[in-house]
Amino acid sequence: MQEKQKTGLLSVVLPAYCEEASVPRAAQVIGRLLAGEAIPHEIIFVDDGSKDGTWAAIQGQTARFPQVRGVRFSRNFGKEAAIFAGLAQARGDCAVVLDCDLQHPPEKIVEMYRLWQEGYQVVEGVKTSRGKESPLHTLAAKTFYSIISNATGIDMSRASDFKLLDRRAVDTLLAMREKNAFFRALSSWIGFQTAQVEFEVQPRLEGESKWSLRSLIRYAVTNITSFSAAPLQIVTLLGVVVFLCSVVLGIWSLWQKVTGQALEGFTTVILLQLFIGSILMICLGIIGYYIAKIYEEIKDRPRYIVADRCEGQTHEEQAEKDL
Ligand code: UDP
Ligand code: MG
Repeated sequence: MQEKQKTGLLSVVLPAYCEEASVPRAAQVIGRLLAGEAIPHEIIFVDDGSKDGTWAAIQGQTARFPQVRGVRFSRNFGKEAAIFAGLAQARGDCAVVLDCDLQHPPEKIVEMYRLWQEGYQVVEGVKTSRGKESPLHTLAAKTFYSIISNATGIDMSRASDFKLLDRRAVDTLLAMREKNAFFRALSSWIGFQTAQVEFEVQPRLEGESKWSLRSLIRYAVTNITSFSAAPLQIVTLLGVVVFLCSVVLGIWSLWQKVTGQALEGFTTVILLQLFIGSILMICLGIIGYYIAKIYEEIKDRPRYIVADRCEGQTHEEQAEKDL
């Protein structure tokens, strides 16, 4: 755009959880690609408390390539935390986040970088297809994205975590204090000059997806509630519905009393008790969930705990740095 082509350091952030097989491949493929395009870069792996040899694999890569660095969490904190830790480590003028299993095609990084050079501050990777998934998974994902799109006011149906962010955008994201940060939505929510790059989700070559049904449901609920207070309005809505029912039933029972047909209707009483009781419980549950969220935020615990770091340097240098 207005400026001349700028060359800046690109930080590549790769969250990795139990990816010992993918780490070396990712470092090699990305390193070779960016070197070939003469893009100055650093590669940051965040080991999200893996149980396999991921950390050893990352250390192996830092020993081979000086531009590779690694951060290791004290336990598994989840992908969002890993992304934020990687961004916090990034020293680049821009940073790109992608999956370590290379399901996000690395070639697209170059296209994203060129758009950044043109002046765009957020370059979003947009999925053209969702890769291979079961129909149930697709349906669940659709529901989740329609809720989250409504909550954020941004179309999230094709959104992904594959994004390139300018330094300004990275700093803006890092300045947000919320613990339940949902990267995919927040990085759109912050605005800035945005471009999109389409990509096709690649099949996973090594290992397997880390998402179980339970973790997906937890992920959906956490992110919906962190972006929207709409479930709290459901409480009000249910209250109104129950009130309307009670008006109708009230008039009906008064009518029975007046016409002398009262006394019967014990079943109705039990059903009403059960109905109102369960509605109250559901409402308390929803309110309780939000209170739990407030409690979590107010405790102000860190998003993640770093146990170890490594970069292409000697142990003495690193020990000095940690002090
Ligand atoms: N990941 C992570 N922490 C987790 C789960 C996953 O850092 O708790 C990383 C994982 O190593 C990968 C990316 O997030 O780089 C996407 O995970 P995965 O491939 O399992 O998910 P899918 O591609 O099936 O959505
Ligand atoms: Mg994957």
